[in-house]
Amino acid sequence: MRLQTPTAASNLCCANAENYKPVLGERSIGADSLEVWAHSQRLRNCSHVELSQVPYHSASAPYAESETGRSYSPLRGGRAGLDNRIVSNRPTAQNQWQRRIQRAEELGAQYSFATEILRFYVAVARFQARLSEELSRSRALSMPATSEANIFEEQLPTELVSRFRSFLSVIQKNGPEAVRGAADELRNAGDDANVRMLTAFWHGADHAEVSPGPQDFFARAFLQPYAVALRSQINLRSDGPAPYICPFCKRKPGLGILRPLGDGGQRSLVCSLCLAEWEFRRIVCPGCGEENHAKLPVYTAEELKHVRVEACDSCRTYIKTVDMTTNGLAEPVVDEMASIPLDLWAQGQGYAKLQPNLLQL
Ligand SMILES: [Zn+2]
Ligand SMILES: [Zn+2]
Repeated sequence: MRLQTPTAASNLCCANAENYKPVLGERSIGADSLEVWAHSQRLRNCSHVELSQVPYHSASAPYAESETGRSYSPLRGGRAGLDNRIVSNRPTAQNQWQRRIQRAEELGAQYSFATEILRFYVAVARFQARLSEELSRSRALSMPATSEANIFEEQLPTELVSRFRSFLSVIQKNGPEAVRGAADELRNAGDDANVRMLTAFWHGADHAEVSPGPQDFFARAFLQPYAVALRSQINLRSDGPAPYICPFCKRKPGLGILRPLGDGGQRSLVCSLCLAEWEFRRIVCPGCGEENHAKLPVYTAEELKHVRVEACDSCRTYIKTVDMTTNGLAEPVVDEMASIPLDLWAQGQGYAKLQPNLLQL
C-alpha cells in the first residue's frame, strides 16, 4: 500500500498515553472495567506508533469499490458466515477456534503491548473451543426446536447456562485482577442472577440491557460459541441492501475484513457476537451510512500495516478493518484485538468505537 505524505498524523506514545483517560462514547469507565485493566497493561510496553491517513484518490489505490457490496449472500451451499465462507474448503468450527488461539500466541510474542491481553484471550478462547466442541456433539444444546427465522429469539437452553459456572472458574484462574473480582461477584450473586444476566444479554440485541464492561464481556464470551453454532445452522439468502447489523443475530459488526478480489479488495463486516461475515461496501460508514469519502478517513500505522482504522467524521465512530490483501496470515478477530495502539489513537482523536470487541476494547 502506498502512503502519501501524511495529511493527518499523530503520535501515540508511552508518555502521552500515560495520561490517557479512556472514554468510549458516552460511557464512563469504572475502576472495575476491563478497559482500565487493558489500558494499564498496555502502557508498560507501548511502542511509538504513528498513524497516517490513507489517501482516497491514489493512483495505486488497490481497492475498487465493489458493487457486489450492495447485496449479500453469505450462504453458499447451505451454510453461512465466517466459519464456512468458502463451502468447498470449509474448515471445521473447531479449527476456527484453534487458529485463533495459535494466532493469539504468535501475536502475543510479537507485540509486547498485547502480550498480556492476548494471553487472557487464549484462556477464554480455549474455553470457547471446548464449549464449541460440546455443542457440536449435543443436538439438544445447539438446535432449538423452532424455525430458522426465530432461532436467535428462543430461550437459552438450560444445559448451556449450566456451564456458566465453569466459565467463571476459568476466568477466576486466568483473568486479570479486576476481571477475577467481577467473576467472584457473579459467582456470589448465584445461578438465578447469572441466568437473568445471560438472558438479558441474549435477548437484548442492539439494545442490550447488559451495559458494556465486565458483564458484557462475561455474557458475550460465554455465549459466543452458542451463537456461532446457531448461526451455522441457518440458511439465509437476501438480495437486499447490505445490512448494518448482523443478518443473523442482529448485533453490530465488531470489525471489517478486506479480502482479495481481482486486483483489489472486497470489504466485509464481521458480527461482534456470532462472527458471521457479510459483504459491505467499502466507502460507506457502517455506523451511520455516510457515503462521502471525504468524511471517511482511513488511517494505518507502519507497525501494524494490515490493520486499518476506518473512521467517520459524521458520526465520529470508527471500526478497524484487517487487510488480508497485505497479510494473508492474519486471523481477523485476533489481529483486531491485538492492535490496541490503534484504538488508543483513534479514541484520542475523539472517535468512539462502533462496537467494543470481546475484551471490551
Ligand atoms: Zn451475528
Ligand atoms: Zn458514520
